[in-house]
Amino acid sequence: MLSKQIPFTQEQLLKIADSYPTPFYIYDKAGIITNAKRLISAFKPLPSYMQYFAVKACPNPHILNLLVREGFGLDCSSLTELILAERMGLKGETIMFTSNNTSMEEFREARALRAIINLDDITHIACLEETAGLPENICVRYNPGNLKQGDRFIGTPTEAKFGMRRDQVFEAYETLRRKGVKRFGLHTMVASNELDPNYFVETTRILFQLALEVKKQLGITLEYINIGGGIGIPYHPDQHPMDLTLLGQGITSLHLKMLSPEGLGKLKIYSEFGRLVTGPFGYLVTRVQHIKDTYKKFVGVDATMADLMRPALYGAYHHISVMGKEEQPHDHIYDITGSLCENNDKLAINRPLPEIELGDILVVHDTGAHGHAMGFNYNGKLRSAELLLCENGSVELIRRAETVDDYFNTLDFESIP
Ligand SMILES: *Cc1c(COP(=O)(O)O)cnc(C)c1O
Repeated sequence: MLSKQIPFTQEQLLKIADSYPTPFYIYDKAGIITNAKRLISAFKPLPSYMQYFAVKACPNPHILNLLVREGFGLDCSSLTELILAERMGLKGETIMFTSNNTSMEEFREARALRAIINLDDITHIACLEETAGLPENICVRYNPGNLKQGDRFIGTPTEAKFGMRRDQVFEAYETLRRKGVKRFGLHTMVASNELDPNYFVETTRILFQLALEVKKQLGITLEYINIGGGIGIPYHPDQHPMDLTLLGQGITSLHLKMLSPEGLGKLKIYSEFGRLVTGPFGYLVTRVQHIKDTYKKFVGVDATMADLMRPALYGAYHHISVMGKEEQPHDHIYDITGSLCENNDKLAINRPLPEIELGDILVVHDTGAHGHAMGFNYNGKLRSAELLLCENGSVELIRRAETVDDYFNTLDFESIP
């Protein structure tokens, strides 16, 4: 029987659930830190590497702080995420701003923070110039179109709303240089939840090739290449994590082979991984409140797709452990459901599990990225708390659960006639 590791015991978890009612998210601090160090060391052989954590994956300042302390920058995609980075004391080039369909307010804030702005479109040059002025350093987001197949989540690049065509990338650099920009970067992101290191090495090759052509045709020496996010994690217990060392070596050897002889040996490599960094180290903990036997067996838990949207949104698999029953035969087939008035409100469909009883605690694995962050309030559901499991086994509350008052805060009952 394939299982997944859990960083706490059933006894520990029951005690935590005494103080913090389910459902809640809990993150493994030691796991996140060790993993962050592993990523940095895999890319060590490169001349200069900087990882910007994709804030949207896990926008909790306590988690972000663990990563910033390991030397990570933050990759923000919206005004609120920029303000979050600012509130954490970051500014300048430790912030990457990778947005799309960007508002003027967002451009202004990004400029005020002196973040690296990653331009999604050629028309944004004028927008940025008019609203906040052009910075000295700017990144350009490339969409490789038919050069890359894309994947199930992000779609084929030609269908994707992100980035510029190749001819637009050249035009953007020329325009930016004419307008006084001095330092340039190149970005692309054409993968999501990808576990094959060769896919990334291949994408990097396309970017290096483009960097060489930009140098040849325009005489512009790019300063950095941002390979985006999108490294996958093994959601299924029979999958394996990506070999980061192999990826680091693959990119390093391309760098040496392709760039060094052409005078681009100093080109820096940036990334904006999210899922890879925190995904495996978050757990959604939920309790069984009803068991229903109609045309199928439904286990009703106190979490819903408002807590974890990925299964309903993408049909994504999240492994589920029934606490204390991990070793029992998985000889029952269940749908694990929430309480939304939506039939796709299911955390798992036709899942073989041990026999479940009322009150059992289920642990939903690999929810440390794009989990709590994607939560919503439909059906008046309130966002759960987030907890941090520390190295000594103690637990810190890093986000309290929403209350009904929080939910009503944006309403004004007084003004109802
Ligand atoms: C979502 C996103 C990321 C992070 O993606 P992961 O799959 O979590 O690594 C990075 N960069 C951009 C531009 C994104 O949209």
